[in-house]
Amino acid sequence: KLPTLKNPALFRQQAYIDGAFVDADSGETIAVDNPATGQVLGTVPRMGAAETERAIAAAQAALPDWRGRTAKERAAILRRWFSLILENQDDLAAIMTAEQGKPLPESRGEIAYAAAFIEWFAEEAKRVYGDVIPAHGPDKRIVVLKQPIGVCAAITPWNFPAAMITRKAGPALAAGCTMVLKPASQTPFSALALCALAQQAGIPPGVLSCLTGSAQAIGGAMTASPIVRKLSFTGSTEIGRELLAQCAKTIKKTSMELGGNAPFIVFDDADLDLAVKGAIASKYRNAGQTCVCANRILVQDGIYDAFAERLASAVQAMRVGDGFAAGTVIGPLIDAQAVVKVEEHIRDALDKGARLLTGGRRHALGGSFYEPTVLSGTTPAMKIFREETFGPVAPLFRFRTEEEAVALANDTEFGLASYFYGRDIGRVWRVAEALEYGIVGINEGIISTEVAPFGGVKESGLGREGSHYGIEDYLEIKYLCMGGI
Ligand code: ADP
Repeated sequence: KLPTLKNPALFRQQAYIDGAFVDADSGETIAVDNPATGQVLGTVPRMGAAETERAIAAAQAALPDWRGRTAKERAAILRRWFSLILENQDDLAAIMTAEQGKPLPESRGEIAYAAAFIEWFAEEAKRVYGDVIPAHGPDKRIVVLKQPIGVCAAITPWNFPAAMITRKAGPALAAGCTMVLKPASQTPFSALALCALAQQAGIPPGVLSCLTGSAQAIGGAMTASPIVRKLSFTGSTEIGRELLAQCAKTIKKTSMELGGNAPFIVFDDADLDLAVKGAIASKYRNAGQTCVCANRILVQDGIYDAFAERLASAVQAMRVGDGFAAGTVIGPLIDAQAVVKVEEHIRDALDKGARLLTGGRRHALGGSFYEPTVLSGTTPAMKIFREETFGPVAPLFRFRTEEEAVALANDTEFGLASYFYGRDIGRVWRVAEALEYGIVGINEGIISTEVAPFGGVKESGLGREGSHYGIEDYLEIKYLCMGGI
């Protein structure tokens, strides 16, 4: 059940279109449950193409006024939204833990992280500078303007129900774009609560709308619309590929934050305590359900046994439970299907010769709770090396040389986050440069921050979110060539 909120108006069971909370045309709803208990928390409207087209029309109608305001005006409104999110941190965290399952302290952390994107981009809005270029003739002048792309659409996942929204809506609105959002059907209440606060902050009707319902119908209408000039998506590579194909028809700009298969390399000269701490933070945060979670832990021969032993005993001590229970560090997986994938990866690894150091079973709490697991002796022949597990399973791979580690790390179609631990300064540079990834954590397991560019290479995606680069994804470049001077 949802705990009593200080501000009950944050729990919305209607979608938000053109400044109003509304039901689906059909009156149909979908139920949202708490993954820790299986209990239904409430319902949201099951919307489709018609409502999406209305939200897009509202975004188009709102665009001239919003884009025409000064950056300072937009920044002031965004700043109010940021403050309201922080003022309501406890309620927003409670809604998140109830619908997503993550431990309450992690939810609180995510709300702060989510708010930080609004603050950051409110500041960046005022620093969208153009350029003056020395011209190619004495009677000419060249000026470069940066302008908002226009109406944007966003589709976001359930693993970070608030932050994946603000890091799209923050830069979009700051730049002067308007946005239509479709949050994941598992976690719509966090999105709708953010909309209630956006409304309260004075974000005008139509500038930000949020639709709940059928992903295919809403996504289809978003991608088919010639009015939508950009789509930003965070989710699986498989769905990203489909959406890219759909966007091809109208040549939309896209930002794609897709799957990962993060290597976490531990070299012989690593600080063992730091490496174990980093592996725990990177691997088990959100029960292993993040696209930057370490998916393959590669450990050098000389330190392998010591690392495996320390990691397994640290993992054994992790408390699994309801995200609202004090002391819980691992909540349930999002649903039964997620557990099936974890079981499949573990079974495949054990069949092919891996050894269980700890975990490896469904948790006694039942439902979608799973024991945090460490596997030793895993190899590239196993599924767990190729596919993102998205669960609390750490497979340990043994390697001998730096070259072997880099080759193993890069042997994947993905390229989002990577990590390595070692002290040799020459190797730190060599390996950092050789890893084919958008993000490299060096002696550090937590890399997410609003001030740095987050994004992947290869099949992990397109574009960057956060940092001063993040706003560029919502801007068009226009070049003015003035002659006859
Ligand atoms: P995840 O494993 O994180 O759920 P998905 O890629 O399946 O990853 O989903 C991410 C988001 O994409 C969710 O909001 C989901 O509803 C949406 N989605 C899934 N399938 C489609 C689709 N065919 N068209 C548009 N959006 C989709």
